[in-house]
Amino acid sequence: MGKQEGAEKRMKTPVHPRIDGLIQAIARLPGLGPRSARRIVLDLLAHRESRMRPLAELMRQVADEIRECPRCGNLDLAEPCTICRDERRQGHALCVVEQVSDLWALERAGLHRGRYHVLGGVLNALEGIGPKDLRIAPLVARIDAEGVEEVILALSATVDGQTTAHYLAERLHEKGVRVTAIAHGVPVGGSLDYLDEGTLAAALKDRRPV
Ligand SMILES: [Zn+2]
Repeated sequence: MGKQEGAEKRMKTPVHPRIDGLIQAIARLPGLGPRSARRIVLDLLAHRESRMRPLAELMRQVADEIRECPRCGNLDLAEPCTICRDERRQGHALCVVEQVSDLWALERAGLHRGRYHVLGGVLNALEGIGPKDLRIAPLVARIDAEGVEEVILALSATVDGQTTAHYLAERLHEKGVRVTAIAHGVPVGGSLDYLDEGTLAAALKDRRPV
């Protein structure tokens, strides 16, 4: 390799591989791309003590300490989670959501007094996601174990969300439990996480039997 060629190669890759590795790792996070990842990494490097090290320490702690609740799928330090252990929660009303972010949205709004069940996704034949890939069997098991009387399906207004709601309604009717679904005056294709609290409250209040 000639001297000039080597110099050119260095100029093309001015970022040290270790920094570049960090940029690429951050760029893979949801909602981010290479440009925002570069900005984040430069910002962190410019504030190593005040931002970067505390962030690294927090990430390590969260990675080590946070557990998925074996009962409902919520994320918490306690196992079962704080919601599942809360005796004041009504055990007879169980709210089924797709993701933990949906559970958080409902909790932020303080709308649901019962417990939750996180499915971990929705059915999707194209992507090969079937009932066994979701936390459906544990949901059915909870109906008897916890004396559940009503299952509220709070799934998104997408085709997959509604397919999943219908599938669950059929499975749960066999258990003799009342099944309702939240109203969808909510934006079609919308996930719960994006709804304001008023819309979410209306959706939950106007739930209908399915
Ligand atoms: Zn739980």
